[in-house]
Amino acid sequence: AAKDRGGQTYMFYDQLHPEQLPERHMLESDLRKALDRGQLHLNYQPIVDVAGVVTAAEVLLRWNHPERGFVSPSKFIPLAEESGLIIPIGDWVLRTACLQHLEWTSKQEVPHFKLSVNVSLRQFLNHDFLASVDRILEQTGFDPESLILEITEGYVHKHVEQAIYVLNQLDKRGIQIAVDDFGTGYSSLSRLKTLPIHILKIDRSFVRHLQSDDTNVSIVQAVIQMGQSMNLKVMAEGVETVEELMQLKALGCTQIQGYLITPPLPAQEFVAQFHQFAMMEHTLGAARPGG
Ligand code: C2E
Ligand code: MG
Ligand code: MG
Ligand code: MG
Repeated sequence: AAKDRGGQTYMFYDQLHPEQLPERHMLESDLRKALDRGQLHLNYQPIVDVAGVVTAAEVLLRWNHPERGFVSPSKFIPLAEESGLIIPIGDWVLRTACLQHLEWTSKQEVPHFKLSVNVSLRQFLNHDFLASVDRILEQTGFDPESLILEITEGYVHKHVEQAIYVLNQLDKRGIQIAVDDFGTGYSSLSRLKTLPIHILKIDRSFVRHLQSDDTNVSIVQAVIQMGQSMNLKVMAEGVETVEELMQLKALGCTQIQGYLITPPLPAQEFVAQFHQFAMMEHTLGAARPGG
């Protein structure tokens, strides 16, 4: 269980080929049972601002398969999407995270922070999506203003009308929208400007090698400037080194997520270590532009 932490400890089933279809069907039928059998659980990864305050936690789904061990989300999320299982699973994720967050905040174990929950295309486009978000918020009593939903750019590009409608509805409820993996999709800037989005999450592929990769520096710089001009918060995901952090800070990025602070953690470990994430203040404070 100590290994149940970062993305690096998974077994790799990521690249299944068509000839492995039976394998795939087995995995899908296992996933179908996973929810009922309590094999799914949630990890939490803090998002910390440059002052060292934990502003949010990203909720990341984990599947502990009885024989295979931990199966990577990049493997089973696509399966869940194709099979439609992502609908009940996505509801479970949101409900479970809301209840967990309420338990933490009601006991005042930790200062307030938001929940950032991933939503996949299939969920977002499901006719029942808004109703199920409302249902979960109502049943749990979770404050919509403490909720961030992470979507990827592609959706908006491919399904403009519906995306605009759903995003506006979420915005009316006070839910914030983060564009995940920003920079990897096809957003048109003029369209982004018209959408009720609040946060850009710079994809971790652009955060890599910021010290040596001038192209990445230019991309990050452009995203940050764009974010500032559109009044959006800009977060960087996948921050692994102090050097990356220093570069990001120098470029004006204000929110950081990554192994440098901690890999995603099971709930108890997350809450137990919560106050240490803020100790990153020392690192963050030291990481001033120019030194
Ligand atoms: P994502 O939303 O972009 O999540 C960030 C991924 O980066 C997570 O991978 C996280 O563990 C990993 N990560 C965080 N910090 C670092 C770092 O410093 N270095 C590196 N190399 N990686 C880092 P994970 O947990 O394997 O999830 C992969 C993807 O699966 C997520 O990407 C998201 O698209 C999807 N996913 C995970 N949970 C859910 C869920 O509950 N619902 C949906 N729809 N998708 C989910
Ligand atoms: Mg995400
Ligand atoms: Mg992401
Ligand atoms: Mg990403």
